Amino acid sequence: MAVVEPLRVFFIPLMSPGHMIPMVDMAKLFSRHGASATIVTTPGNEPLVRPSVAGSSVDLLLLPFPPSAAELLPGGRENLTFMPKSDHARFFDAFFALRPSLEALLRARRPDCIVTDTMYAWTADAAAALGIPRLVFHGHGTFPQCVHESLHLRGTHKKKKSEEESFLVEGIPDRVELRKSEVSSIFQWEAALDFWKEAEEKSFGVVVNSFYALEPEYAELYRRKPGRRAWCVGPVSLANCKGSTSIRSRGGNNNHPEVERCLEWLDSVGTAGSVVYVCFGSLNEFEPEQLDEIASGLEESGYGFVWVVRNSGWAAEEGFEERVKGRGVIIRGWAPQTLILGHPAVGGFVTHCGWNSTLEGVAAGVPMVTWPVEYEQFVNEKLICQVLGVGVGVERGEAGAVVRKEAVAKAVAEAMGGGREGERRREMAREYAAMAAAAVEEGGSSYMDTAGLIQELLEFRAQAQSARPNWTQTQTQLCF
Ligand code: UDP
Repeated sequence: MAVVEPLRVFFIPLMSPGHMIPMVDMAKLFSRHGASATIVTTPGNEPLVRPSVAGSSVDLLLLPFPPSAAELLPGGRENLTFMPKSDHARFFDAFFALRPSLEALLRARRPDCIVTDTMYAWTADAAAALGIPRLVFHGHGTFPQCVHESLHLRGTHKKKKSEEESFLVEGIPDRVELRKSEVSSIFQWEAALDFWKEAEEKSFGVVVNSFYALEPEYAELYRRKPGRRAWCVGPVSLANCKGSTSIRSRGGNNNHPEVERCLEWLDSVGTAGSVVYVCFGSLNEFEPEQLDEIASGLEESGYGFVWVVRNSGWAAEEGFEERVKGRGVIIRGWAPQTLILGHPAVGGFVTHCGWNSTLEGVAAGVPMVTWPVEYEQFVNEKLICQVLGVGVGVERGEAGAVVRKEAVAKAVAEAMGGGREGERRREMAREYAAMAAAAVEEGGSSYMDTAGLIQELLEFRAQAQSARPNWTQTQTQLCF
């Protein structure tokens, strides 16, 4: 019997942790299903990816920015997490300058399939010209995507005059209300949305980091769109087995002493589920006033905490660290989030509701305190609190207002305790975590979607090869 060559898949993520980390996980997942997976990124991102793929069979291919673009990224900061929001537009100028070398790479290497971030819309045409199927990765689940599509199509939010006026999202299975101010940042690149959509229509399909049982009605609705094919393959974070080194080094090298101290401290905590983990993602930076309120709120809550603070310049008021010694840990910079969330001492998650964090919270089976800040995070909050019933929203007042310490303490207390209602939330959280684990196990819905997708791509390749028997022989060597 002829040996079938593994499917060669190139994963090309946007250089931002919220897009890169799940794609690296997805590459591991594909390789576990027998594919030969390669991450394509730039040299400045190597330190973030290399430790995560160590010990796996996932390859890394480094493609430098052209010199003209490198000038736009001072200090070799080639990832959105390394720059303030004000520099993001410059980053995207550099990002688009990668196109010629990426096209040359695809021509030279001719992978069997590419998985590219939605923002690499031009790869739809480049791949089609080479006969390579392109899969799109949006980075969101089907619930937020259905909400976005409804709003984009119907413009419901645009009919509201005031930013604080709420409206009902039309055409979705649940009764979801949002405020105009909560969706405006999603639509800041409205013209690009059409462009991305068009590129998606020319692609093979969409890979979604979610699992069917989490949002069944939305997975159905999303797949009902004529011409769209979508595979739910998540939670991809579960590609990193418990206890493995890859879970520790997810997103970069997490071997700094603060992380070490935090993990030792968590091991020493006697009561399971008594610590709340607090993290607002890889891009958000709060003003010092907000950080002061969070510090006081966590102290007031009385619960143990691990709090990840990105702002390098902020220091807690004098005496704070002394007062919470033995009860709370601050990690400055980067934390191994899924490792901490999976620790038995952790019983709650204060989150900004980025999609990855949302799914990681679900997979960890802990109730969440939701505190969305921008983009689709407000939509994800509705899924967590209203549809799944595993979260408590922090009281925020008007858009942009500082959240006070009382509100922080109250929401943490409700999520970690909360009487019968709290117990019901914890029970639901445990149930969803069990469903998430079952989805990626052999025979589970995400496992079957991944296996089915790879099989289809192998068949696609076989057909293409029989139409062009010399295809693989025409591959040329790379000479960058
Ligand atoms: N993350 C992490 N450590 C940190 C901060 C973030 O591992 O200190 C990871 C987190 O686990 C998630 C990703 O970074 O996988 C952030 O993605 P998300 O969609 O939650 O939010 P974003 O950063 O894109 O706003």
